[in-house]
Amino acid sequence: MRLKKIIFWFFILISFFPVLIALFYDRSIDYETLMLFIGELSGYLGIHLLLLQYFLSSRNSFTVWFEDIVYLVKLHKIFGKYGISFIIFHVFFLFLHYIINLDYNIISIDFSSNFGIYKFFGQLSFYIFLIVWITSVFFRSKISYRIWKKLHMLGYIAFLFVLLHSIFLSNKDSYLINLYLSIGTFLFILILLHRFIKFAAILKHKLKVINVIRLNDNVTEIELHCSFVKKIKYGQFMYLQISPFKDEHPYTISKVDIDKQAISFTVKHVGKHSTQLSGLKPGNFIYADGPYGVFTREIFDVNDKSDIIIISGGVGITPFVEVIRSINKLSKNVYLFYFNRAVKDIIYRDIFLEKSKTCSNYKYIEILSDQPDFEGEKGYFSVEILKRYVSGSLIDKKYFVCGPPKMIEFVMIQLKQIRVPLCNIYYEEFGY
Ligand SMILES: Cc1cc2nc3c(=O)[nH]c(=O)nc-3n(C[C@H](O)[C@H](O)[C@H](O)COP(=O)(O)OP(=O)(O)OC[C@H]3O[C@@H](n4cnc5c(N)ncnc54)[C@H](O)[C@@H]3O)c2cc1C
Repeated sequence: MRLKKIIFWFFILISFFPVLIALFYDRSIDYETLMLFIGELSGYLGIHLLLLQYFLSSRNSFTVWFEDIVYLVKLHKIFGKYGISFIIFHVFFLFLHYIINLDYNIISIDFSSNFGIYKFFGQLSFYIFLIVWITSVFFRSKISYRIWKKLHMLGYIAFLFVLLHSIFLSNKDSYLINLYLSIGTFLFILILLHRFIKFAAILKHKLKVINVIRLNDNVTEIELHCSFVKKIKYGQFMYLQISPFKDEHPYTISKVDIDKQAISFTVKHVGKHSTQLSGLKPGNFIYADGPYGVFTREIFDVNDKSDIIIISGGVGITPFVEVIRSINKLSKNVYLFYFNRAVKDIIYRDIFLEKSKTCSNYKYIEILSDQPDFEGEKGYFSVEILKRYVSGSLIDKKYFVCGPPKMIEFVMIQLKQIRVPLCNIYYEEFGY
């Protein structure tokens, strides 16, 4: 995987070269045109980064080769957070160039000339990207996922304006720039097509519901027939869509039954999509994209003998159900710390308890926050709880954390405080 990441980064970096060559080719830069050049350079780099962003966020050829889709999403977030600076530099340096050399304010709205109209396309996209950026960086946790997603999708419309802006205002004499923009436009059309194909549920797996089991008041297990069950690795997830042109959301494959050719998803009802899933009946079909992810891969790495500490909250247990079921095959110690509010919320309790009776390399610890009469551990995550059960140093263990984003943040802070190396902590957030 390390090698894959290096190759991946190598391709990302060399992908910037064509735009640089195109911009530097056949061009002289003097004092008067320096700011114009910096403005254009940051504009083209911004376009390039935006295209990369669309690739990173859509499940495409990248994910066929690079299974770790969660890593791609993380990169998408980081590029998005800092990449806006290219767009800001673009506006800033062009503003300086035009105001100093031509006494023209490019920030003004001006429809009196073609230049003003093409400039307006750029202005429009700038404001849209600003909205997308502000809502993602500062307000993501404060607004509903659906509203945020709709605002985020405006980024596609903004990019159309970016293309119009740059095609009309680019240097028409530069063959390389024209070629670069043509390829960029073509790739963007491919990305749009790809998104449409996914949205229309074309080329997705159509899975038949075999069984639906209510595990407690707000969690349902859905078992589906799956012909590619052998290809699934424990802990992977799929994007589920109830019908074409409807939302698709990610859910972990909680159980894999090779003999029965079936997989299960365990869904907590938190909103519209998850509640609709829980209403499925045997015989219904759903569309699934994937599987994706590599979350629990290191647990099964036979060359790594480090003990495993699993920290899970609520439905965040789903990536680990099969791990615990296959614990006899592991030659390392596994500690499962499972956090819930009350006993009634603990799902798959019988599996976890049963295994702890028969497997000496496995310890199961339940921690409840909302049941005062519980005789076991009470409260929330703390390093002290880990210390009470884990033998040896906490630093050299491998940690697997899964649950809601807030819980993961809390656990990460505490693990960092005791100096667990970041490379020993694997986590999967059940949210965005
Ligand atoms: C990799 C991964 C694996 C997951 N596995 C499971 C699982 O096994 N069982 C389970 O119950 N839940 C799982 N989830 C969470 C599940 O995707 C959300 O609970 C579900 O999408 C909520 O949708 P909703 O319409 O019911 O609720 P909403 O009210 O729309 O969403 C509630 C919260 O869910 C998250 N969410 C919603 N849609 C998405 C999306 N498309 N992508 C990412 N996060 C989203 C957001 O944080 C949002 O605030 C997983 C999430 C991820 C990212």
